Amino acid sequence: MLLSGIIQSDTHNFTLINLNNSMNIDSGGRLHHPDDGFQFIPSPNYDDRPEGVEITLLVIHSISLPPGEFEGNGIIDLFTNQLNQQAHSYYATIAGLKVSSHFLIRRDGEIIQFVPCQRRAWHAGVSNWNNKERCNDFSLGIELEGSDTTPFTDAQYSTLTALTQCLRKHYPITDIAGHADIAPGRKTDPGPYFDWARYRSSLQKQHRDQIFDRRE
Ligand SMILES: [Zn+2]
Repeated sequence: MLLSGIIQSDTHNFTLINLNNSMNIDSGGRLHHPDDGFQFIPSPNYDDRPEGVEITLLVIHSISLPPGEFEGNGIIDLFTNQLNQQAHSYYATIAGLKVSSHFLIRRDGEIIQFVPCQRRAWHAGVSNWNNKERCNDFSLGIELEGSDTTPFTDAQYSTLTALTQCLRKHYPITDIAGHADIAPGRKTDPGPYFDWARYRSSLQKQHRDQIFDRRE
């Protein structure tokens, strides 16, 4: 889904601006976040982007491990190749998968980074956006802890909006799409409960207020 449309109000604006102003990305592509709980947990599942390719796409995903269960260590274990196959029957079906994303936003809005933005995280798989294959080459991946059957939390939308604005300041991102949009028929995430209109209006409201702030 391409982000465009009309400006709408957003009651979370004050929080978003504060979060956005305090997040930063360093020259190595690592996020700096004022929250003491922010973690960088390195995943081995990445490699170099092709030379000269710019980051122009943000891909929104959702994931929960075991499926439909939140707040455990399953996602971290998967992205760090430490998933215990004995821990859940589903884990045997994804054993050996080498995947990651740049960021995970947990249910309470906490961010974990796994791969520096400059590197190519393995989040998209076989994919196509605007007639360009291999979206991992030119995208950043953000996973929301969630499922196809559960609404995402207010904290997740707040963090996602702030993180998106921070990333747009540092990289020439032109498009934002869901995993399902770049891998139709193969993937469904972030799923029907991800509120694209809310995300879009939060981004636009924040952008408008930033312009307004500069004039004051
Ligand atoms: Zn996905």
